[in-house]
Amino acid sequence: LLHIQRSESLYQEALDVIVGGVNSPSRSFRAVGNGTPIFMKKAQGAYFWDEDGNRYVDYLAAFGPIILGHAHPAVTSAIVEAAANGVLYGTPTEKEIRFAQMLREAIPSMEQIRFVNSGTEAVMTTIRLARAYTGRDKILKFAGCYHGHSDLVLVAAGSGPSTLGIPDSAGIPSSIAREVITVPYNDIQAFEEAIRHWGDQIAGVLVEPLVGNFGIVPPAPDFLEQVNKLAHQAGALVIYDEVITAFRFHYGGIQTLFNIEPDLTALGKIIGGGLPIGAYGGKREIMDKVAPMGPMYQAGTMAGNPLSISAGTACLQTLSHPGVYERLDQMGKTLSKEILSLADQYGINITLNRMGGAFTVYFTGEPVTDYQGAQSADGELFAQFFRHMLAEGVYLAPSKYEAWFLTTAHSDEDIQFTIRAVKRSFKKMKPTK
Ligand code: PMP
Repeated sequence: LLHIQRSESLYQEALDVIVGGVNSPSRSFRAVGNGTPIFMKKAQGAYFWDEDGNRYVDYLAAFGPIILGHAHPAVTSAIVEAAANGVLYGTPTEKEIRFAQMLREAIPSMEQIRFVNSGTEAVMTTIRLARAYTGRDKILKFAGCYHGHSDLVLVAAGSGPSTLGIPDSAGIPSSIAREVITVPYNDIQAFEEAIRHWGDQIAGVLVEPLVGNFGIVPPAPDFLEQVNKLAHQAGALVIYDEVITAFRFHYGGIQTLFNIEPDLTALGKIIGGGLPIGAYGGKREIMDKVAPMGPMYQAGTMAGNPLSISAGTACLQTLSHPGVYERLDQMGKTLSKEILSLADQYGINITLNRMGGAFTVYFTGEPVTDYQGAQSADGELFAQFFRHMLAEGVYLAPSKYEAWFLTTAHSDEDIQFTIRAVKRSFKKMKPTK
């Protein structure tokens, strides 16, 4: 099977000096029956090579940002060129303007923009801004949606925490958690009730306009429209967390794809081309509250640094080429169709949710439209599948409801290789239907 001796010994060393051996809990293999996480040494295009020399086709894409594949030449040269001119100035630069203009052109609701360093920072600032603008304290979010690791939203968050079976984090003041109302995704009736009850106290409604954090879960028809309408009637702002979704499915956000506008938007991941970045923005009237224009303070030593801005610019330029998203969609379609038919052939119950070049395979026979549905997927079966796929040379996110991300670096051969790996993996599993 898989020889990972060097990963194993590195893991022992890592456990000694890095808490849990990983720098983000979602990288651990705890959700897939524990064991040694694979230590990667190198990545190129659609592939990873680990410390023992094994090659994997990568469907993690670093949890989203690596949409062009690893070490894309346009991104790499943009970084090298920028680095040669100094990595950090602490002054404004022209590059930041051009990049902000690019973002606004693609996502016009972001009339004004501010760059930060991560998705967490972007979301946490939109919350402060919604509070500053409305003079209210409460935030409403949807169960299972992950909006970063700030105190404000680490309540009923999906992704990392819940796969580990820890619904909330220790260390969050109950006074803060009390300001967060959580409602099931795609449940407009529950949303309406929450608005009726707390509407006049809600500063912002935080929405993943298409969920990426308990797998790919699209909004039900009219869900986003109703959320907008009811939130606005109550005087609350609507904040779209498009950290995962922006530039994932087309050159823009879910908001431009579905033609619906939030008041504020948070971005991250893809817009940094793999370097640390976040951005938030929205209506000018709201953004006017941000320092130095207004009373809401937010700052950052590394914000808008030339490396992240240059990498992001090169990434978006590449994504703007014709045919990019059609290709991602076509690969997603081929791969997901084959997975469904193989599951049928081998008698394994799965539900597959797909949007373009991203999809999730849930080991359940039930449709998945909310967090509860995603949680009901069989973690044990996923763990088996995950290990078989790893041994076949395919790297998936170690979570039963994370997405598979296609990149522009995946080839038709990689897709066929993956289909054969799925076939052999399913064959080794006990039928569930
Ligand atoms: N929002 C969403 C929707 C995310 O998926 C993530 C990260 N998975 C974040 C916010 C936090 O972003 P970061 O990890 O860059 O802080």
